[in-house]
Amino acid sequence: MRCPFCHNADSRVIDSREADEGATTRRRRSCPKCGRRFTTVEEAVLAVVKRSGVSEPFNRSKVVAGVRRACQGRPVDEDQLQKLAQQVEDAIRATGAAEVPSNEVGLAILRPLRELDEVAYLRFASVYRSFTSVADFEKEIAELKARQPGAADVAEPAGTPAG
Ligand SMILES: [Zn+2]
Repeated sequence: MRCPFCHNADSRVIDSREADEGATTRRRRSCPKCGRRFTTVEEAVLAVVKRSGVSEPFNRSKVVAGVRRACQGRPVDEDQLQKLAQQVEDAIRATGAAEVPSNEVGLAILRPLRELDEVAYLRFASVYRSFTSVADFEKEIAELKARQPGAADVAEPAGTPAG
C-alpha cells in the first residue's frame, strides 16, 4: 500500500483488527520512508449482477441516483437519500451474499423508500415490481392506506368482501 503522505510505494502493517462485526478489517500502517502512520480499511467487494450477466461493485451513489429520480418534486432531501442508500447497503450486506442480482437491489430499496415517501415509492415500485396495469397501482395504494396509523378507523365497513 502506497504511503498517502510521501507516496512511497511500500508500507508495513503494524496492527490489524476486525471492525463492524468482522465485516471489515482495519490496518494501521507505517511508512518506512517518512515514518508516518495511516489506516486502511479492507472489506469484501459486494458485487451486483446485472441482467446482462455483467457484475460490478455495489455503488451507493447509483442507488441514490435511482431514488433521486423517483423523488423528483417530492419533499426528500439529500441527507435522506444518503441515509436510504446506507440502509439499502446494510440490508444487502446483512444477507451475507457476495453477489446480488441488480433486481434485488431494487427490491431492497422499496422498503425504506416506502417509509420515506409514498409517491416516490409507487414510482419506484412500478418499475421494480413490473406493474403492468392500473390494478397493480390500486392494490399497492390499498396496502399503503392500510399501513397508515388510524387506518382501521376510516377503513371500509367490516365484512366488505376483499377483492
Ligand atoms: Zn511515507
